[in-house]
Amino acid sequence: MVHFVGAGCGAPDLITVRGKRLLEEADVIIYAGSLVNPELLAFRKEGCAVHDSAEMTLEEIAKVMEEAEKEGKTTVRLQTGDTSLYGAVREQMDLLADRGIAYDVCPGVSSFCGAAASLGMEYTLPGITQSVVITRMAGRTPVPERESIRSFAAHRATMVLFLSAGNAEALSGELLAGGYSPDTPAAIVYKASWPDEKTVLCTVGTLAESAAAAGITKTALIIAGDAVRQAGYERSGLYRPDFATGFRPAKE
Ligand code: SAH
Repeated sequence: MVHFVGAGCGAPDLITVRGKRLLEEADVIIYAGSLVNPELLAFRKEGCAVHDSAEMTLEEIAKVMEEAEKEGKTTVRLQTGDTSLYGAVREQMDLLADRGIAYDVCPGVSSFCGAAASLGMEYTLPGITQSVVITRMAGRTPVPERESIRSFAAHRATMVLFLSAGNAEALSGELLAGGYSPDTPAAIVYKASWPDEKTVLCTVGTLAESAAAAGITKTALIIAGDAVRQAGYERSGLYRPDFATGFRPAKE
C-alpha cells in the first residue's frame, strides 16, 4: 500500500495527525527533498528506508514503490503542502493503478493556507471578494492560453500565485493588463511557516522591485487583490445578531 501524504508547507508540526501516524508506520518514505522539511523524517521508525525524490525520475519512484509492495511493505510518498496542487500526483497514482498497487491520499496544509496564516489574512472578505483564484505563471510547464493571468485578474478576486516569484515583473504586468490598478495591495510570502519565513507587503505595481529588494526568487507565493488590505470589508451575516441561522434565532 502507498500513502500519498501532504507534509504541510514547512513547520513539521503542521502535518496532520494522520500524516504523522503514517510516517511513523512507514517501511519506506519517498519525500520531496526540495521542499519538504527534513525534520519530518524524525518521525520514521528504525529501519525505515528513505529516498529523496528530488533526485529521482517518475520511473525510479515507481520502481521503489513496486519493490516495497512486492515485499509487503508500506510506503509513504511525502509531498509538500497538499498533494492536490502542483504535486504531479496523478501520474504517480495512475502508475500505481496500472500495476495493481493500492494507494490513498492524506491531505496536508497547502502553502496558500500557510501564507494566509503568516499574513493573518482572510482571503474572502464580505463586500470585497468571495473568491480565490489559485494559479501560476507559465514556466517550463505551460499554462493553457485561456487561463492567462490577465483573464483571471479581470475578476479582481483574491489571486494566489504559485511558482511565479522568479517572474514577478512579468506577473505584475499581466495583473495590471487584466485590470488591477497599480496601487492594489499585494503580498509576497517566502517559506511560510519555516524559521526563515519572510513576508513583504507591497502593491501590484511594486511587486518586482519588492521581490528583488527582499531577494526572493523562489519558494514564495504572491497574493494580489483588495482583500490583502484587510480593511474596508462588511461585517459577515453569520455572527450578526439580527441574522437568523439554523443554529441561532435572530435577536432584536
Ligand atoms: N503542493 C504544494 C505546492 C507545490 S508547488 C502546496 O500545496 O503548497 C511549489 C510552490 O509552492 C513553490 O514554488 C511556492 O510557490 C509554493 N510554496 C510551497 N511551499 C511554500 C511555503 N512554505 N511558502 C510559500 N510558498 C510555498
